[in-house]
Amino acid sequence: MEPITARSRYWRHTQDNAIQCALCSHACTLSEGEFGHCGARRNSSGQMVLPLYANISSIAIDPVEKKPLRRFMPNTWTYSVGFWHCDMDCPFCQNWEIAHPRRKDGSKIYPERLISLAVESGCPSISFTYSEPTIHIEYVVEAMRLARQRGLATILVTNGNLLTEPAQEILALTDATNIDYKAAEAGTYREVLGGNVRVVQNFIRIASTLCHVEITSLAVPGILDNPRQMDEISRFISSVSADIPLHITQYHPAWRYHRAPLTKESLTAMREAAQRNLKFVYAYF
Ligand code: SF4
Repeated sequence: MEPITARSRYWRHTQDNAIQCALCSHACTLSEGEFGHCGARRNSSGQMVLPLYANISSIAIDPVEKKPLRRFMPNTWTYSVGFWHCDMDCPFCQNWEIAHPRRKDGSKIYPERLISLAVESGCPSISFTYSEPTIHIEYVVEAMRLARQRGLATILVTNGNLLTEPAQEILALTDATNIDYKAAEAGTYREVLGGNVRVVQNFIRIASTLCHVEITSLAVPGILDNPRQMDEISRFISSVSADIPLHITQYHPAWRYHRAPLTKESLTAMREAAQRNLKFVYAYF
């Protein structure tokens, strides 16, 4: 597999042959040969290499509402591209086959070719989605630049667990983003999901200054399942802007999590709590 070193960004040498990644909240220190927590970045001879550069897991043409975006280019289709792996560990991952893969069957499609395919599809936008795109930031940034040159709008669907500098770079090239806000409690984010809520909040604030933003909260029993939590999340969002749309989506048992989905009554109560703080709240039963 082709190791790409020249284009890898957001890392530094530490001591001996170790390096530290500065991309997401994990800030992994990697010894020689070691992969980062995300499984997408590796220390090879004291350099950060990207073994999965241009390795695409999935391509589909989706309604933009499926991202979900409800207030950006409505009733259009978007050319949707997925990679492999994720920097978070949500045990209920709805895309675990590509976010935590046992095997990888994708093909290499370099950015120039990808954007040509997107233009040929006739879609007015391209979405980086399905698994976590930001751990492949070098590829996404290159593809977004090319997309804009070819007249495509750019959409980023992300967990938002990205540190400030890379967040500013990728969001400056993004026209619209949907960001997950997965839990109200910092401890749940850290210990169960493998993320950092403060980093996600910072990402949302940066995004709100650079592009169109919508937020998704997946309703998961035992994680995010009640009006008090929804009140807390929607209060934070409204502190950025009460105009940011919030999507409350229904979980389905997947990967390592098999509890029954929430009832319609529970989702309705969560939606009503969010509606007290935000203008646009969409719940999916
Ligand atoms: S992007 Fe990957 S290697 Fe870098 S800090 Fe995050 S989990 Fe670690």
